Amino acid sequence: MEFKFAERMEYLKASEIREILKVTERPEVISFAGGLPAPELFPVEEIKEVNRIVLEEEGTQALQYTTTEGYLPLREWIARRMNTRLRTNLASDNILLTHGSQQALDLSGKVFLDKGDVVLCESPTYLAAISAFRAYGCKFFEVPTDDEGMIPEELERILEKTEKVKIIYVIPDFQNPTGRTWSLERRERLVKAAIKHQVVVIEDNPYGELRFEGEALPSVKYFDPVGCVICLGTFSKTFCPGYRIGWVAGDQRAIQKYVLVKQGADLQCNTIAQREIAKYLELYQIDEHIAKIREVYRRRRDLTVKTMEDEFPEGVTFTRPQGGLFAWVELPAHINAREVLEKSLERNVAFVPGGSFFPNGGKENTFRINFSNMPEERIVIGLKCLAEVLREFI
Ligand code: PMP
Repeated sequence: MEFKFAERMEYLKASEIREILKVTERPEVISFAGGLPAPELFPVEEIKEVNRIVLEEEGTQALQYTTTEGYLPLREWIARRMNTRLRTNLASDNILLTHGSQQALDLSGKVFLDKGDVVLCESPTYLAAISAFRAYGCKFFEVPTDDEGMIPEELERILEKTEKVKIIYVIPDFQNPTGRTWSLERRERLVKAAIKHQVVVIEDNPYGELRFEGEALPSVKYFDPVGCVICLGTFSKTFCPGYRIGWVAGDQRAIQKYVLVKQGADLQCNTIAQREIAKYLELYQIDEHIAKIREVYRRRRDLTVKTMEDEFPEGVTFTRPQGGLFAWVELPAHINAREVLEKSLERNVAFVPGGSFFPNGGKENTFRINFSNMPEERIVIGLKCLAEVLREFI
């Protein structure tokens, strides 16, 4: 049998991270590679209780099909949360539940992208957003970024001269992979540029609640008077990723299109997962839970930054994120992080080389460090070991 696969299969290749993650499953490996939350923080006992209550009190509904939009009390909670935390102005009708924000990325591609359309993204950007959009045959134009986000003059220049730009994709809070956060001014200028050119902004925000210090900023959506910003959110990093519950929030005209494509994809999200999260939010204090996560990650970030400062050789630079899960390391231009990875894997230390976060390739002298998943003593041992490997290259 010769399979006649769709043309899109030619655009897609196995994610490098998934391949590295296979290695990191070995217990002896100290991994800075995945984007995994700390499993010891999952509220397992509370979830057992919530599961029991949901099955006892609403078992038949929890095991039944439900609406595509998702469980209303949960959508209402999300709207309230976004309105207070992100200063948006949304109601439950503006929200569709999705299987993780990853599904929302895929649905965004389905809703907005035709073959040959252009997605503008930060350079670098989230690897699996590249895979999700790429399946729809789009091209990526990378907008140069600095510590404050996309450089507005560059964004405006690219928008002026590029046809068929359909999406501007951004992760303004503790970005994956760099850990950087956009300034207020850049958020506002982004929306102005998007409105001028009538392009949708997809604001992906899985890490915003995990701020360790400094003032929380209003979302990009806050600056949007016309509905051009579509927000993606998730319970993966504030609760647990295994439920696979996230959301897309925005102008109802767009949300209605997302509902249509979601119906074709999987009809609805897992009913019992939606109800269990809603019950958890009703019975427990998620803010206390998030405070615990923040505290643990803050300590791990402190230790990561300090160990890199103390141990990494001169010529290596890195970000000092104020929240989230990641830091970004830049090596002198002639060093290839994939070669560094090969050597560090021999010593059981893993990370993700930065090249694959650039949709059009390049910047092989970079890599991403995840600091949320390893206990403190292993962070120090792993980074000291990595520093020794780096010294061999420099
Ligand atoms: N967007 C970004 C920027 C991410 O880093 C991730 C997960 N690592 C996702 C979306 C997807 O998360 P989930 O599907 O678990 O909500």
